[in-house]
Amino acid sequence: MSTSQSRRKFIRNTVAVSAGVCIAKSSTAVAHPATTIVDKTASRIPKAVTEWPVWDETEENALLNVLNSGTWGRTGGGPRCAEFEAAFSKRLQAKYCVATSSGTTALLTALGALNIGPGDEVILPPYTFVATFNVVTNSYALPVFVDSDPHSFQIDPTKIAAAATPATKLLLPVHIGGYSADMDAINTVAKQHSLQVIEDACQAPLAEYRGTPVGTQGIGGCFSFQSSKNLNCGEGGALTTSDEAFFHKCYNFHTPGGGKPAASVGRGSNFRLTEFQAALLVAQFTRFERQSNERNTNAIYLTKLLSEIPGIAPAKLTNGCTRSAYHLYMLRYDKQHFADLPRAKFLAELNRLGVGASSGYGTLNTTPHVKALATNQHYVR
Ligand SMILES: *Cc1c(COP(=O)(O)O)cnc(C)c1O
Repeated sequence: MSTSQSRRKFIRNTVAVSAGVCIAKSSTAVAHPATTIVDKTASRIPKAVTEWPVWDETEENALLNVLNSGTWGRTGGGPRCAEFEAAFSKRLQAKYCVATSSGTTALLTALGALNIGPGDEVILPPYTFVATFNVVTNSYALPVFVDSDPHSFQIDPTKIAAAATPATKLLLPVHIGGYSADMDAINTVAKQHSLQVIEDACQAPLAEYRGTPVGTQGIGGCFSFQSSKNLNCGEGGALTTSDEAFFHKCYNFHTPGGGKPAASVGRGSNFRLTEFQAALLVAQFTRFERQSNERNTNAIYLTKLLSEIPGIAPAKLTNGCTRSAYHLYMLRYDKQHFADLPRAKFLAELNRLGVGASSGYGTLNTTPHVKALATNQHYVR
């Protein structure tokens, strides 16, 4: 598709494709009268900037077909989960895919299949959704934070080696916002310390690292199809891999007793996607390429314009991130440049104008939830 963009096209396309704006804190100098930005934009922004999800009779028919088939689950012999897995893995250039009930359960499946458990340490960034942390503790392993880079918002690979101990088993980078983490640098440290890498790609379907879709940059990638995500079936997820043995372990873990190649009895849970959700995904997937291209074109256009505003710094793409999925449009707001517009007011103004904007994720390492676990006697090293 053409990458040419205009203000009119940008506005029209944002109606169809939601994009949250996520504004992190920052501090540097110089003042700028930012109110003019907001006022200038006001007249051009339509009411329903974040109309989501998008569907029509394709989805209606898909759901009715499952209903009328009477085969509502993959264990009942339904074909839709497999159909979605085939389409998703093909597009992501992964050999295998396991559809799961959520992004969280895709991550739990990956950790379970790698036999991450008590005594194991898992390295993850603190700037992420809490689920990335919870899947580690739910696997009875110890989460270890490695700082996120304030410019890219991604895990800082130069700090990973210092956090690795003999107990470290897994690196769990997150492609936060849908922008890819620096996978070459992460894989280099992983190799040096004999660690596995699982990508939390929940926000990043169709993001690319050095021209290849994320999801197979490590042994596996985990995706979420929860309502707010780029590809959506209400609740759902998937795990991608090109490692055959790992695929079978994951498949067995997510459907105990029903695994391939032979039925397995072992550690696992029921993390299966239903046929209804799979049918919705298959239908949504027919729009996904176009929606992703629109997101991408819009975001690049936005970056060009926002970069001209002192005090606003769009997220820097990491080395090798050749395409972000732009689940969020992340930027930093520098209060020194906005004397008349404190951060809270800046956000409130954007929301008032119909631009869904939030302050982004907090620092997970400072939350009461994480601190309580850190002081729990079972987690003291
Ligand atoms: C959404 C998300 C998850 C969890 O996915 P669910 O489908 O909500 O379980 C995990 N990690 C990140 C980074 C996410 O954005």
